[in-house]
Amino acid sequence: MRERFPLLAANPGLHYLDSAATSQKPRVVLDAMREYYERDNANPHRGAYALSVRATDCYHEARAKVAKFAGLADADCLVFTRGTTESLNLVASAWGRANVRAGDEIVVTAMDHHANFVPWQQLAREKGALFRIAPITHDGQVDLDALGGMLGARTRIVAFPHVSNALGTVNPVRAIATLVRERCDALVVCDGAQGAPHLPVGFDDLGVDFYAFSGHKMCGPMGIGALLGRRAILERMPPYQMGGDMIEVVGDEETTWNVLPHKFEAGTPNVADAVGLGAAVDFLEGIGMDAVLAHERALVAVADERLRGLDGVTVHGPAAAMRSGVASFTVAGIHPHDLATILDERGVCIRAGHHCAQPLMRRLDVAATARASFYVYNDESDVEALVSGVREAQRIFDGHVARG
Ligand code: PLP
Repeated sequence: MRERFPLLAANPGLHYLDSAATSQKPRVVLDAMREYYERDNANPHRGAYALSVRATDCYHEARAKVAKFAGLADADCLVFTRGTTESLNLVASAWGRANVRAGDEIVVTAMDHHANFVPWQQLAREKGALFRIAPITHDGQVDLDALGGMLGARTRIVAFPHVSNALGTVNPVRAIATLVRERCDALVVCDGAQGAPHLPVGFDDLGVDFYAFSGHKMCGPMGIGALLGRRAILERMPPYQMGGDMIEVVGDEETTWNVLPHKFEAGTPNVADAVGLGAAVDFLEGIGMDAVLAHERALVAVADERLRGLDGVTVHGPAAAMRSGVASFTVAGIHPHDLATILDERGVCIRAGHHCAQPLMRRLDVAATARASFYVYNDESDVEALVSGVREAQRIFDGHVARG
């Protein structure tokens, strides 16, 4: 598998354990993007000439592939965006501004990434709505009883992650959507940034209104992502940005909007990155998303066992079987940043910090954690390098303490 990723093939000693931040790119994705520019590049939707039609077809095909991958039958309900952050801001801005009133309630969870927290918090401030945060259990799962108790007649939006980027917790999306539908008439928004890269999505069966993800975390390029929505809601929702391609007729006073998905894609689209994302989903489908998840879970189970076996190491979140490929941990007496620096000297790349989840860090009562995240190209040698690096860091710090 490493041979299929040029960066990893060129760096045999590299243990890349930061795929939750961004994944490496397989050669097929890089080739697809280069070929698009070498063979098919033109501004789509605009030209009457054959090359522009080819560019339009490439963009259209990419949308169809990504929609199918995510289990969305109606591909016109997939809006290409820059990524999860833009997708979530699109909904908060377009749907939220039009539908949320003073006194309404918006509910998020304590484990949301800032991208699925701050847009709703700020929308609530702007509208005079109440912003509520559903708590998590002691082992890092959404507290469903508490969430249920927060839902009522004034709840307008419920937003939550498919998978926590900081803990790896896989949330029961369908059960949460059902709970919301039983208790209130709210918009259900799922942040799939850590879902789509790691497990089957099945949007049409999830019961949510919107689902967002980023191409760069799933073997695709940076700068492209998707927002999947239900047609009836997208059709009623006002546009997010104004400009070329998203209009039907522009009068001196009034403008009418293009059909889906163009209404939400103002300006020249990012065709090459969409083509790259199309190639990425072909690549992942070639492995199979069940197999991707099983591979990550197997590695994370070994990592958990080995890390928990070390004195002073705490692994945060639920049991490995309930997580995707994330191990988030702290080591007594060693700041995660120092740990990451020592690991880096050994070719092990991990993330250290608050992982854009400061509300969660406060609830875990830690300033930061070290996070190792596994993907399709990792194997047990990466776990071994991680664990021996942590041991080495402990030896170095013990030495300091002894000398000090
Ligand atoms: N949501 C989650 C759970 C994430 O992990 C991330 C990225 O780390 C985002 C949202 C934001 O994604 P992007 O920076 O690609 O827009």
